Amino acid sequence: MSLLRVENLCASYGASQALFGVNFTLAEGEVLALMGRNGMGKTTTVKAICRMIPSTGTVQFAGQDLHRLPSFRAARLGLGLVPEGRRCFASLSVAENLIAAARPGPWTTARVCAFLPRLGERMGQRAASLSGGEQQMLAIGRALMTNPRLLILDEATEGLAPLIRAEIWATIAALKRESGMAILLIDKSIRELAQVADSAAIIARGKTVWSGAMADLSADVSEQYVGV
Ligand code: ATP
Repeated sequence: MSLLRVENLCASYGASQALFGVNFTLAEGEVLALMGRNGMGKTTTVKAICRMIPSTGTVQFAGQDLHRLPSFRAARLGLGLVPEGRRCFASLSVAENLIAAARPGPWTTARVCAFLPRLGERMGQRAASLSGGEQQMLAIGRALMTNPRLLILDEATEGLAPLIRAEIWATIAALKRESGMAILLIDKSIRELAQVADSAAIIARGKTVWSGAMADLSADVSEQYVGV
């Protein structure tokens, strides 16, 4: 059975419709890349799944229809979002940011710090004083503290130096290998996505135009809908 099933998802910002039917499924332990050019609806899809904006269609997660639940209950089912732009609490310390997100489960402050050692070294520091890469690690750590069944990373490597990006990719690969957590990835780097993701769904103008195993994504389709 799939962990997440998205069917005919539609969403609007006021009078302007952004999603016109997004469809894909994601299994337990699977890494899926949500791909498409800028402005095609990837972030909107994630916001609709996490119930941050109203939507219609089906979003079934862990056997429950998210549209039937109030949004705070939906979050508690285990959706861990690392949002675009990181959004850490700037005036709180690293430790406080982590603790504020904590929910019961195997991911504790100690485990997060062991997994992301750079955060461990900065526990007392204010989030505002961290580098961009460290803030991204903190955003990932915070999502892990919620003990999610599905981790969603929206542009986690955006705006970071190449070495730091490589670290984030290594972190994602380690999560996949060591925790078997289901992961949904949005990122501009097609090459890195192709290495870590098992499957892909491509969105163009608010609709899914292709979905399947990453290994089956042809260069033609990729060029048509994703490449620059
Ligand atoms: P990017 O890689 O640039 O983030 P994306 O595929 O994630 O692109 P979305 O951010 O989901 O795209 O945007 C989809 C469409 O919705 C775009 O046409 C965008 O202009 C519009 N849109 C996004 N956010 C809002 C908003 N808050 N209000 C109105 N329109 C929005």
